[in-house]
Amino acid sequence: MGDEAIQATNDDAASCKRFAIQQGYWRDPYLQFLVKAAERKAPEINRGYYVRTHGIKYLLEDFIKKTESNCQIISLGAGFDTLFWRLKDEGLLPKTYVELDFRAVTSRKCYYIKSRSQLLDPLMESCDGVKNKISIENAELHSPRYHIMTADLRDVADVESKLTEAGIDKNLPTVFISECVLVYMTVQKSSDLLKWIGDSFPTVLYINYEQVNMADRFGQVMQQNLRSRHCELHGVDACASMDTQKNRFLSVGWEGADAMDMMCVYHKLPPADIHRIERLEFLDELELLQQLFQHYCICWAYKDKANIGLSSIGF
Ligand code: SAM
Repeated sequence: MGDEAIQATNDDAASCKRFAIQQGYWRDPYLQFLVKAAERKAPEINRGYYVRTHGIKYLLEDFIKKTESNCQIISLGAGFDTLFWRLKDEGLLPKTYVELDFRAVTSRKCYYIKSRSQLLDPLMESCDGVKNKISIENAELHSPRYHIMTADLRDVADVESKLTEAGIDKNLPTVFISECVLVYMTVQKSSDLLKWIGDSFPTVLYINYEQVNMADRFGQVMQQNLRSRHCELHGVDACASMDTQKNRFLSVGWEGADAMDMMCVYHKLPPADIHRIERLEFLDELELLQQLFQHYCICWAYKDKANIGLSSIGF
């Protein structure tokens, strides 16, 4: 898959999220300023995005609370994610929040932030209302707390130099997030990246959302049916089982790792949430939902030199 097609997967993810938000699955007043109103998506897709967004946020909030916000968030292949604004609204901002993505993606995101007060004003509030603390140029955004930077994640030296430039402190508890990102890299490149992170950050959590078990017949049928570009197979990683997902961390020196498919994550949601979202849209193909959810998982891994209790993070 070429880089342009990889970058286009961000448009798919953003428009699916926007549609689910429009349908009332969760509240996000910011995404509408980054992506146009989306065409209708199937109810199982909307429900899938809800569980993905909330599953990741659940683990992340646990981490932020454990560190009392004295931590850093690094979002790899962040695309048009609006998590920075949503965490700000909840009073859960970390000390530093860095997003890395290709220039073609960051330049559009920076342009929208610069030109839309609904995005820029909250960012200004995060730096005590001082506008001149924010610089947006050359496809990058820098502010005291929030950085959007260009990097190719396949190039570990590039990632390291960007994080250094953003002022990342390797000794502060740090959480890395990637949502449907590592699958676009070769197994060797993603392994190099995960090894470098594990070797460099002594107290670190990694949250990864990705396809699993795509090698079976349903995986192939599902791709045709859903015509979703980010569901395409991209080599061995896309065929990964849950054990493969955990082992990609454990084999490069991480202390612990766990993974759960999205059907299990769904059942871990508070019953009131499940009840609410199940009433939003009628879903007659429960079997399809179940099969879809079993083909995605959240994997989380940690190293915990500071002993802050990262091994207890989970659903
Ligand atoms: N994480 C966002 C989300 O879930 O809404 C976007 C997901 S999109 C499927 C994948 C993102 O990863 C795209 O924005 C793409 O540009 C980025 N990406 C993939 N490979 C990358 C690489 N080698 N370097 C930088 N960004 C990459």
